[in-house]
Amino acid sequence: MQTNLAEFIRDTPEGREAEAILRKCVHCGFCTATCPTYQLLGDENDGPRGRIYLMKQMLEGNEVTERTRTHLDRCLTCRNCETTCPSGVMYGHLVDIGRRIVETRTERPPAERFKRWAVKTFFPRTGVFSLMTRLGMAFRPLMPAALAGKLPTSIPAAGRWPAPRHARKMVALAGCVQPVLTPDTNAAAARVLDRIGISLVEAPGAGCCGALRFHLNYQDDGLDDMRRLIDAWWPLVGQGVEAFVMTASGCGATVREYGYHLKDDPAYAEKAARISAMTRDLTEVLDAEAAQLGPLLRGRTMPRVAFHPPCSLQHWQKLRGLGEALLAKLGYDLAYVPDAHLCCGSAGTYSLFQPEYAEQLKKNKVTALQSNAPELVLTANVGCQTHIASGATVPVRHWVVDLDERLNA
Ligand code: SF4
Ligand code: SF4
Repeated sequence: MQTNLAEFIRDTPEGREAEAILRKCVHCGFCTATCPTYQLLGDENDGPRGRIYLMKQMLEGNEVTERTRTHLDRCLTCRNCETTCPSGVMYGHLVDIGRRIVETRTERPPAERFKRWAVKTFFPRTGVFSLMTRLGMAFRPLMPAALAGKLPTSIPAAGRWPAPRHARKMVALAGCVQPVLTPDTNAAAARVLDRIGISLVEAPGAGCCGALRFHLNYQDDGLDDMRRLIDAWWPLVGQGVEAFVMTASGCGATVREYGYHLKDDPAYAEKAARISAMTRDLTEVLDAEAAQLGPLLRGRTMPRVAFHPPCSLQHWQKLRGLGEALLAKLGYDLAYVPDAHLCCGSAGTYSLFQPEYAEQLKKNKVTALQSNAPELVLTANVGCQTHIASGATVPVRHWVVDLDERLNA
């Protein structure tokens, strides 16, 4: 696509990157058909090609209006469009640039500004988020229905975390929201890895990976979170740690892009690239060890499950099909799930800010997941897990929690 960027951005690193991305787009529209928001709304501007054009106009110096912001806000950042684009357009990176500009050029209504500020301030603080969640659960009947529906009905116990005893060591990200809503996930991963000779540890003070604030368009705050996590992990690099293991694919997708996000920061670029290179999703780690795990499951009854691959796993990290393949290798009976490439509507904080579309996408996803009579739904990201669980009639769990339970049976 021909571009003529405006002076304010032309000779900046962001401008050069945006231009390179825009030039790759041939406007073919292959991406549009698979875009969940285009499927819901049928508006060209609510699909990737339309949004790319809106961003191009903005970057070329045309007026930026609330309309542009609305269409960018409605985007799930699922990056399904990247998977289908034949030209390799990195839509996710372009929309980060577009959103940063639109945020500085338009003003949101005060109530919306306050809601966004509250989420970016309180959610990444595990202690505060835990208190908010427990208060919300205690006073659920007094809460507005939309908010009450987002709260878990119960919080599972984490269970025993095995003491480090193996020569092979990996580090898990504690994260911000996951230890509050599903504290059993990392503990289950530690137990499963311990059985096959890998000790999993968490680094103190690591906190949020930065995804929450970065994708809420507090990009500088998100970058600070990334630097803080690098500072917490860096002392472990070179101490025999094999990998940084991600049990929430949303966090994993972000940490894998630390090298990209911090490439222009001389103090962090090298460290960020190293940490990104050492990052693995748990599916990758256990897929490599499946030959060891298989015999441990011999004689166990394995259930019929539907696997929901989060967008952050299949489109961001390009690990399409890996979760399903691993579960099949381990003996799970996989139910076919139509339209598995489509987002469930959780999408980070999307469901808090675009509840109508998030709800519709959830309904469609639950129908698809339950269409071939699974006993339960398994997934790989806390956001998808809690979002789908609020609409499903079968249990929804992290796959490693279920695997841990089968190993203990
Ligand atoms: S599929 Fe790729 S090249 Fe075609 S319109 Fe979409 S982003 Fe542009
Ligand atoms: S990221 Fe997802 S919602 Fe956004 S334009 Fe691409 S396919 Fe559509």
